[in-house]
Amino acid sequence: MICPYCGSGDTFEYYHTIIPTVDRACDREKLSEVKLMPLVVEFCKKCGLGFNTTPLSMEYLEESYKNYVYISPADGIGQTKFDGTLRKISAFFSKDDELIEIGCSDGFLIEKLNSLGYNRVLGIDPSPQAEIAIKKGLNVRRVFFTDKYLGERKVDGFLLVHTFEHFENPFRILKDMISCLKEDGKIFIEVPNFEGYHHEHLFFYNAYFMDRMFHEAGLKLIDISYETVAFKKDFYLRCVAVRAENPDYPEFRISERLKDAESIAHSIAERYKDLYERITTFTQADKSGNVYWWGAGSASVVFLNNIDKSILDNKKFIVVDGDKEKLGKFIPGVGLEVYPYSILKDLKAESLIVASSHFTEIQKTLRENDICPEKVLNIF
Ligand SMILES: [Zn+2]
Repeated sequence: MICPYCGSGDTFEYYHTIIPTVDRACDREKLSEVKLMPLVVEFCKKCGLGFNTTPLSMEYLEESYKNYVYISPADGIGQTKFDGTLRKISAFFSKDDELIEIGCSDGFLIEKLNSLGYNRVLGIDPSPQAEIAIKKGLNVRRVFFTDKYLGERKVDGFLLVHTFEHFENPFRILKDMISCLKEDGKIFIEVPNFEGYHHEHLFFYNAYFMDRMFHEAGLKLIDISYETVAFKKDFYLRCVAVRAENPDYPEFRISERLKDAESIAHSIAERYKDLYERITTFTQADKSGNVYWWGAGSASVVFLNNIDKSILDNKKFIVVDGDKEKLGKFIPGVGLEVYPYSILKDLKAESLIVASSHFTEIQKTLRENDICPEKVLNIF
């Protein structure tokens, strides 16, 4: 394939998997519409970018974005999710800065920023979730961002939190942001760190590539940080960049080289293979014939549709979740129903697989409800 960033043909496939077109628990009627589609990811040996070579059509993507609504942290799940993001934004932007958040969804981050005293933040998002933010009275517009949007006006900063990996042409959007940025303005981008293999994600970034991309766009990286999520070390990557000629900040020198990015790409398929083997071993150790599984979000949907088929055929899977919105719904693809976690107690579950980023909260919930499986495997 040709690299969509640098145009090189020197690329290789480093990961492939099968993911349903709907990747969260859904209603029973939806199950028949769901298709299992391959996700094939390639790595460019010249620039270090990972890219999705099997993007879904807009029709499927829109469907999956609609499903994003009920996993929003605004509904009470994962409220602490953006704490690290907010700390970093507070460190680099002042409260009177005029900021634009591109891809603000239902405005969760904007609300948080407003509560911290950032009152000049405009959110932009073309998706239906923007309407939710607008109804809440937040400063949000439901449009696509282009350099035409602001006219001659320039802003102090752009915030992109888990959106840059979704854009069809992120490099065009970067250009547009730069042309709307004040001389001393900053761009903040948070993305999964070479992770997050879903149909919605079209690009897979790493520190080496981000540094290179900013350089080639006339910017310089001034800060880079990582966040560990559950047991996934350095799962998120946060970058702050300014114009290359900005004298106020020294350039942040990254230690990653192109060969490091390439070796990570090579390790990803192996890492997932190991994980699936651990699931197989774990389920075989429980002689009850049941597999208890916590999690009905996207991680679970992907895992359940890719585990060894013989386990699915030979064991009875009982999927539970703590999120009321997911109860009574079904895991697309495998079609398993989602039950409340309280049934684990009645069923005296001896072992439990947890596929969720909220592992600590789940452990606490288990203890508080006197549910004590002897063995727990966290696979997120
Ligand atoms: Zn490339």
